[in-house]
Amino acid sequence: MYALVTGGSRGIGRAISVKLAQMGYNVIINYQSNLQEAEKTLALVREAGSDGELLPFDVSNREACIEAITAWQESHKGEYIEVLVNNAGIRRDNLLVFMEEDDFEKVLRTNLFSFYNVTRPLVQPMVRHKFGRIVNMASLSGLKGLPGQCNYSAAKGGLIAATKALAQEIGRKNITVNAVAPGFVKTDMVEGLDEAALKEQIPMHRFGEAEEVAALVGFLVSKEASYITGECISINGGLYT
Ligand code: NAP
Repeated sequence: MYALVTGGSRGIGRAISVKLAQMGYNVIINYQSNLQEAEKTLALVREAGSDGELLPFDVSNREACIEAITAWQESHKGEYIEVLVNNAGIRRDNLLVFMEEDDFEKVLRTNLFSFYNVTRPLVQPMVRHKFGRIVNMASLSGLKGLPGQCNYSAAKGGLIAATKALAQEIGRKNITVNAVAPGFVKTDMVEGLDEAALKEQIPMHRFGEAEEVAALVGFLVSKEASYITGECISINGGLYT
């Protein structure tokens, strides 16, 4: 049983990789450039009692995605990736009036176009095997819209809509497609934010842990969640419901 986690080298993606390893999945850990951290995730996957491999590619680059995924498929004849977690993401915050074109485009390419680049080559084998699980890492920002994040909110909002559309396309093939929308989670991504001030606004009065998000992803991937599809589930300590 193979699972691919994009952005598995750090943060939420690492916690998801470990969770899937605990569930018995052989985890394919994608990352962009941080080999050292990706190797740490692989070691944790093995400690969890499973195995895995590293598959670096830039999720925003369509050719790179197709090349890496095709190479994996050719070296694993008869196997298929039954779980896909589209988790890789970046943010480049700024007020729209100051936002450079590159920051708008890069965030769209990495957080939204990546969904197309990675999911498309993996859906067909899932359809053939009549089983699959796709989980897309969205954000509170994609539900509510956050100032300073027109790029990121647009990307994550688009990802939520794509989740709902794809779920309807392939539900009959026993493939579920869901999104998870975290609030603030303690990872490198939130470094530099004023945690003390922000947690005042969160009913649970703290940031979330990557492992808490991974537990939700683990549930959505499990057989127990087989009738949940097209949903976007918030995990935000009550910040926004
Ligand atoms: P993180 O700690 O910054 O880690 C980002 C991960 O994505 C790294 O593994 C990174 O790889 C990978 N990545 C970035 N760009 C990539 C690219 N072009 N191609 C392949 N991999 C790429 O982030 P995180 O906080 O765990 O966030 C994970 C996901 O949750 C993101 O989609 C994020 O938008 C979402 N999210 C996070 C929060 C939060 O509060 N942390 C809240 C809501 C949603 P390298 O190590 O190689 O750089």
